[in-house]
Amino acid sequence: MLNIALDGPSGSGKSTVAGILAERLDILHLDTGAMYRACALAALKKNIKCLDEEGVSAFIGDIDLQIRYENGEQKTILDGEDVSQKIRNNEVSMMSSDISSLPSVRRKMVEMQRIVAKNNPCILDGRDIGTVVLPDANYKFYITATPEVRAERRRLDLLDKGQKVDFDILLEEINRRDYNDSHRKISPLKQAEDAILIDTSDLSVEEVVDKILAIINK
Ligand code: C5P
Repeated sequence: MLNIALDGPSGSGKSTVAGILAERLDILHLDTGAMYRACALAALKKNIKCLDEEGVSAFIGDIDLQIRYENGEQKTILDGEDVSQKIRNNEVSMMSSDISSLPSVRRKMVEMQRIVAKNNPCILDGRDIGTVVLPDANYKFYITATPEVRAERRRLDLLDKGQKVDFDILLEEINRRDYNDSHRKISPLKQAEDAILIDTSDLSVEEVVDKILAIINK
């Protein structure tokens, strides 16, 4: 089964790149960040703080979270509701970084991700795919860019959606999430030793896709 791991920090362009690669290679794309975002939204709905280990552990085992695909596009379904858009706001972004540090949450999400990877040729994007979820993936990539470039990309993304957010605020959020993601005790954001590093700061999405395809098709 073809399994590709694509890891990297927030705003590195992982999801966009993974989506295009999945289309070109005719395989599934699983955006694992969306799953942690859905966990954060579930906690928010239940009025449970994202760092409340006991409160979160009590519901996470039975979380009603499904990933579906419509015309190749991932839909995140929580308690039967399509939350694909709701999980994208800034509040959920920050909360997902907190909730993803809890062992019970990671255990559950990794288990779900491995089932998808076992049953489908796919590309998974996240933080710990190459290191923890799929250590035996056929290909591993780690993509990154400077925090400034990532904050600017996020600003343009949000602007595109009609939300005007200050660059400095986004830069601070990116730095905070980077810190959280790379300093947590379990499964910190880290390049797998055997992953290929690609710095996307000066590359377009197409150039990144081409680089990866060239390696896979070699
Ligand atoms: O990739 P995205 O920004 O959507 O991920 C949201 C949050 O989920 C990240 O800040 C990170 O803390 C967490 N995450 C994770 N492991 C993954 C994917 C995402 O801890 N495999």
